[in-house]
Amino acid sequence: QCAAVCPTGAITLRNNIGEVWQALQDPGKRVIAQIAPAVRVAIGESFGFAPGDNAMGKLVAAMRRLGFDEVYDTTLGADLTVMEESHEFLERFKKGGPFPMFTSCCPAWVRYVENSNPKYIPHLSSCKSPQQMFGAVIKESQRQISAPDPRETVVVSIMPCAAKKFEAARPEFSRDGVPDVDYVLTTRGLSTMIKEMGIQFSELDEDAPDLPLGMGSGAAVIFGTTGGVAEAVIRRVSGKKTYNLLREIKYSGVRGMDRSVKEAAVQVGDDEIRIAVVHGLKNAQELLKKIERGEVSYHLVEVMACPGGCIGGAGQPFGLSPEKNLRARGLYRADKVAQIKSSEQNPVISALYNGLLSEEAQAHDLLHTHYEDQSR
Ligand code: SF4
Repeated sequence: QCAAVCPTGAITLRNNIGEVWQALQDPGKRVIAQIAPAVRVAIGESFGFAPGDNAMGKLVAAMRRLGFDEVYDTTLGADLTVMEESHEFLERFKKGGPFPMFTSCCPAWVRYVENSNPKYIPHLSSCKSPQQMFGAVIKESQRQISAPDPRETVVVSIMPCAAKKFEAARPEFSRDGVPDVDYVLTTRGLSTMIKEMGIQFSELDEDAPDLPLGMGSGAAVIFGTTGGVAEAVIRRVSGKKTYNLLREIKYSGVRGMDRSVKEAAVQVGDDEIRIAVVHGLKNAQELLKKIERGEVSYHLVEVMACPGGCIGGAGQPFGLSPEKNLRARGLYRADKVAQIKSSEQNPVISALYNGLLSEEAQAHDLLHTHYEDQSR
């Protein structure tokens, strides 16, 4: 394996590439990576692959060459988000609101609410995003199991946008002054590092993420595209997980990019749950106005600031609308071949809830957050 050095010596602090090179060269640090769902179907474009090709295997192999000690998949964080968000939603449903509940995975959307529309803060899910849940779980599990290893744990996220950098830097996502996620590289930032190292990406033998934290469900993989979070939550709260039910959910209206707002109604027991999915911040603002005018009403609204969701994030290789559609298809293909379709079926999730997350207070501390009115 190649040694972890920066061949160009390029230290670019703004994009975190310099800090990550330094951490990878530091024998006192154990550097752990997590890779967001949307990255796998876009990074290949930087190396001549077609949009939507799932390059996860080559990506993991490249990261090992770069010198990462452990490589995980943020899909586990997404599964945790589904578990917590579904629970929170059902609790709200019992209490009668406040509705709609808005998803909180997208930091650009959360920032918009805090800065410009703080009256909706009580409507935001208290769940941390998959990146932050996973960062907190990695740091806590390392703290508990790695006592004999004196190396400092450094968590690096590979994400589709720079908004995730702001999110990781928020003080709410540090415990005792230690951030849950130390550095965020965008998809393009990681591509730069792979090129700087001279790795022939297309020639790499594929590799798999490490266990146990590298295992996620199909529902978690589709988080990377608009409608994915809503679909994953519907799978979780729906009763029997039959093939027909999954087909029904697939065609419920949450998928696709043709419409800026998608609507679906899902039967859970005797109740009908009305769901909306909106992508693009401007479209979200329009939807809020319609909600305020009483023209529409929903129980759950998924909001992603980027058109198409995270596959269209500004940190991804520059792509046009057809590329985004192909990237989305790549994620749905990955879901289709996944053996575990629903978050609660992931055995690592059960192990975490029986172990690290078994105490309610600790689980809440690691997986939930709060928001502040920043408008004043
Ligand atoms: Fe980042 Fe865009 Fe995804 Fe929001 S929708 S988390 S801004 S890539």
